[in-house]
Amino acid sequence: MKKLLIANWKMQLSHEEACTWLEKELPSVHETLSFTEHELVICPSFTELPYATSLFEHLVWGAQDCGAEEKGAYTGDVSVLSLKDLEVRYTLIGHSERRRYHGETNELVRKKATLLLKHHIHPVLCIGEAADQIPIRRSILQEQLESVLPAFTSDDLCIIAYEPVWSIGSGKVPSQEDLRIILELIRELLGDHKHLILYGGSVQEAQAKLFSPFVDGFLLGTSSLKSEELKKIILSC
Ligand code: PEP
Repeated sequence: MKKLLIANWKMQLSHEEACTWLEKELPSVHETLSFTEHELVICPSFTELPYATSLFEHLVWGAQDCGAEEKGAYTGDVSVLSLKDLEVRYTLIGHSERRRYHGETNELVRKKATLLLKHHIHPVLCIGEAADQIPIRRSILQEQLESVLPAFTSDDLCIIAYEPVWSIGSGKVPSQEDLRIILELIRELLGDHKHLILYGGSVQEAQAKLFSPFVDGFLLGTSSLKSEELKKIILSC
């Protein structure tokens, strides 16, 4: 079945390194992808997007974040208008690293979702509990979802990436049964909204195989830069 695979490159590569990856690794990843129906969306840093989107315009590109306003005196922010000009199709919002290191609130994430939807870019809303919030997971996920969902009309597709914070980059993953229960809860909270639910957090080939029947795709961090691992994931979900 067709899955949505989103590669979050974070700030792992310099411009030179990222361009080299795209030139050397992307062709074989793309070839592997062509044996499947999956969609792969790579989210490099903003600085690589003009290069990537012009040289590989037949591929689908994403951004790791966006500004919460269209234009103005917001030093360092990148506007959705620029993303739209570059034909970026997806943008991550509310990633736990943005929440943790940049103090992003649910309110800010909702503003970003509204802007992206206005400009026909899919927001990919990242939600998830930290390790000490596992006992109150339900209320954390509920708050993260309920504060952003008003940005979506009934026609909009809600793409949710469930990423337990304790799993990101740690090698720890939920059990298949725990994930099944959490996904049920997320579906319940989403109500009538059209949705896709992705799982993210330390996904390698084994997890892709195990979790694939329950999710619509994966958000990949570490594995997305290891082309051999990425190809195995593509083939196993
Ligand atoms: C992420 O941070 O979005 C992520 C999924 O990272 P990793 O795969 O490295 O856990």
